[in-house]
Amino acid sequence: MKRFLLFWLGVAPLFCTACFESGKIEALDEKIVSLNKDLASAENALAEYQKNRPQSLSVLMDTVQKNEGYYQVLERLGVKRNDRGAIVLAIQDSVELSNLKVGQKFHVAKDVNGDVQVFRFSPNPSVVHLLFKNPQTNQFEYKLVQKPLVVKQSIFEGHIVQGGTLHGTLISVGIPARMSGVVAGVLQCKIPFSSVQPGDRFRILLEESFYQDSIWISGKVLYAEFEGRVVGHHEAFLYNDPDPKSSYNAHYTENGEALIFDGLRYPLDRLHVTSPFGVRIHPITGARKMHSGIDYGSPHGSPVYAVAKGKVVVSDYDQYSGNKIAIRHADNSTSYYMHLSSRGVGVGAQVTGGQVIGRVGSTGRSTGPHLHLGFKNVQGQWINPKSKTMIATPKLQGERMVRLTGQIAKIRENLNQLDATEPRQIEGSTVKVKQKVISKI
Ligand SMILES: [Zn+2]
Repeated sequence: MKRFLLFWLGVAPLFCTACFESGKIEALDEKIVSLNKDLASAENALAEYQKNRPQSLSVLMDTVQKNEGYYQVLERLGVKRNDRGAIVLAIQDSVELSNLKVGQKFHVAKDVNGDVQVFRFSPNPSVVHLLFKNPQTNQFEYKLVQKPLVVKQSIFEGHIVQGGTLHGTLISVGIPARMSGVVAGVLQCKIPFSSVQPGDRFRILLEESFYQDSIWISGKVLYAEFEGRVVGHHEAFLYNDPDPKSSYNAHYTENGEALIFDGLRYPLDRLHVTSPFGVRIHPITGARKMHSGIDYGSPHGSPVYAVAKGKVVVSDYDQYSGNKIAIRHADNSTSYYMHLSSRGVGVGAQVTGGQVIGRVGSTGRSTGPHLHLGFKNVQGQWINPKSKTMIATPKLQGERMVRLTGQIAKIRENLNQLDATEPRQIEGSTVKVKQKVISKI
């Protein structure tokens, strides 16, 4: 059209040479057209420049405060509602956002329109979760940055003294306070503490990771041994699955027996909590609502297991819970499984703990495939399923048992090596501990 107009204006004067006045006007018009053309090309050049010049981003940082979730932090950072939703969706498979700790840092880099271009969450100094907005797709893309850690193993030995508490005893032998609760938990799995006698001995192998040698990142109890006059000799070994979120990651005896025999079975093979039990703040709207169960994010079709033996009392569909199953257990408590893609058992069926009862789905009111696990106590009140002890299996089998056997051999080797080293004084304490750096990763 423009081209046609220019052509027409260009040739028009040829037809008007007889008329002088009209010729002058034509010449002026031609000038205006040419000026407009220049202006348009200047505007195009400016638009092109603005499109290609480096984006000026403003970077904002905030930290998690007491009793806060990511919603509050993102809101304080002024992240728009649609960006909040996109960030949560892009990161929830990689980060357990329901488990934030005070002081953890959130960064956002916003463009001139206030839209988030880069999101950065650092749960500790050694790990950074990054989201970049891809300019082509306008979608966030995820990247994980891990800084090298120093891994240390330490062995702690001691005995129970008359009138001493377990916690106090663990601290007195040098077990760091940050790990004493975990150590006590492992020991209590197997040993009834009412039967513990003064003089009973224990030995604990801890593995802890540090950033820059001094900032504690994480720790685990690789091994716990207890030799009691009444309770006898017990050993517990940590099983490490290749999948760090596997429900099988737990302590077992040398024969692969779970340390808690009466624990409930986990409903899934993989444990990724996307929403915990309790009052939650909706990630996008900010509304407060009671969440009467635990949401586990899980791929569509993953098997869902009955948490314990019992009778199926509900197996139906409704618009909120989708496909739903409820199982009443021997003690009259009831477990609920919601949003299933398929149900494998009908009302009246007797099921055993660990039996597949359905598949993970996203039916009913749900934003993506997950399992909502609910638990009602004998009085019919919703309780936090996490308050129950859950295990993946009473006994490891197959390739997991083979892997545990290999890991036990390695743990024994580490114990022997550590036993042969000279004890070193713990910084700021009079306690001596056998410790070594096992790797830098
Ligand atoms: Zn839920």
